[in-house]
Amino acid sequence: MAKDAPLTVAVIGAGIVGLCAALEIQRAGHHVILIEPGDPGGRQAASYGNATWINPGAIAPISLPGLWRKVPGFLLDPTGPFTVRWRDLPRHAGWLARFIAAGRDWDRIATIARRRYPLCKDTVADHRTYAAEAGMGHLIRQQGLVYVYPDRSAFAAESRIWTMRQELGVRFSEVEEAELRRLQPELSPRYRFGARLDDAGQIADPGAYCAALARLLEARGAQRVGARAASFVLDDGKLRAVMTDQGPVACQRAVLAAGIGSAGLARLAGDRVPLISERGYHIVIPEPGVELGAGLMPSDGQMGVVSTPQGLRLAGQVELADPAAEPDWRRAEILLGFARKMFPGQADRFGTPAIDRWMGNRPSTPDGLPCIGFASRSPDILHAFGHAHTGLTQAPATGKLVAALIDGREPPFDPAPYSARRFGR
Ligand SMILES: Cc1cc2nc3c(=O)[nH]c(=O)nc-3n(C[C@H](O)[C@H](O)[C@H](O)COP(=O)(O)OP(=O)(O)OC[C@H]3O[C@@H](n4cnc5c(N)ncnc54)[C@H](O)[C@@H]3O)c2cc1C
Repeated sequence: MAKDAPLTVAVIGAGIVGLCAALEIQRAGHHVILIEPGDPGGRQAASYGNATWINPGAIAPISLPGLWRKVPGFLLDPTGPFTVRWRDLPRHAGWLARFIAAGRDWDRIATIARRRYPLCKDTVADHRTYAAEAGMGHLIRQQGLVYVYPDRSAFAAESRIWTMRQELGVRFSEVEEAELRRLQPELSPRYRFGARLDDAGQIADPGAYCAALARLLEARGAQRVGARAASFVLDDGKLRAVMTDQGPVACQRAVLAAGIGSAGLARLAGDRVPLISERGYHIVIPEPGVELGAGLMPSDGQMGVVSTPQGLRLAGQVELADPAAEPDWRRAEILLGFARKMFPGQADRFGTPAIDRWMGNRPSTPDGLPCIGFASRSPDILHAFGHAHTGLTQAPATGKLVAALIDGREPPFDPAPYSARRFGR
């Protein structure tokens, strides 16, 4: 329960980060107002269409040493797993330079990994708790997640990351070819080695899960406002209201969890955060003729491949482009090509016109860490955005940290690395 009088806290954005923050703030005894123009976890949110992984081992940033050598390829090959649209290059060049610099040596990667781990480590247990409370326990799957490689040498090429995982206490097992065949007989013989993150899991239908969390919040007294936040009403540094396109919402604290929509509001709260969209895509193939136990990640495709209630989902690709630009559906075709390559025996089922194609915006900072903590203009506004590739995983710990900061409680881990001020003002 709240240490002092309960506060009214507006949470801006009902993706997975806003929802988890709202649950933790409500658990601490405060009144929550959820401001969201769309459906919680609807198709507009990254939280809808991701690869469903909840992964304690999600410690590695995307930018790793040697990335700069691949940049010409990103620009020239529109079918690779990471592309930059030429017309967006001038706008994204500064971000890209910082992104490459953030991953320029292995000491830096080790530091980022240590900072990411507290956000990831308890993810499965935390989501299991929320899901049970929301009556959605069946959506949590806990069969581990398996990176699949053509052979052991491809796995060995990534040994630094696996060693970092091991040193942080993330459990994994090596899966030899015979075991891989037994686990997933339909998987193409081109993959002959696996590494299973034993304690990782999935939220089989993240959109339905988000919707259920929103219902749970409302059942516990939260108020929903169908509006888009536009600014903050501050009086001598004290927050009076969040101004929305439907009028003011009076509150004493605000949590900014609007995903890719957060940058403009963060600026109004005093922080210039280099936040861009790493756009990602998914396809869902209904009745694919293959049911996966553990989710898979092919090393040559860098995408999550999972079974969901709607069918086989392949989610991945990175495209640096304006979030509002038309999707480039060739990227969905690349995912479909991978489905055929991974499950050649089922490929003739994958021509169905019923395939669902989706594009979403990963809200990404250049240094592989989200922004969590007090805004520069007012400690009544707290940031909770920028989780890029791993927001589903990192949302519960983010929520706990934000709730502790609001109450002035001992935080569950050091918030300093996530401060928006690291980018300067
Ligand atoms: C292809 C793909 C695969 C991924 N796979 C994984 C994975 O397997 N595991 C993992 O952990 N993560 C994964 N991610 C990342 C993860 O989905 C995101 O990091 C996470 O969903 C971000 O959550 P969020 O709540 O910050 O943002 P969102 O889910 O985008 O939600 C933000 C919400 O804020 C609302 N909003 C925007 N502006 C305003 C405003 N002004 N006022 C009020 N509301 C506003 C939006 O309508 C939206 O509902 C993946 C992402 C993609 C694209």
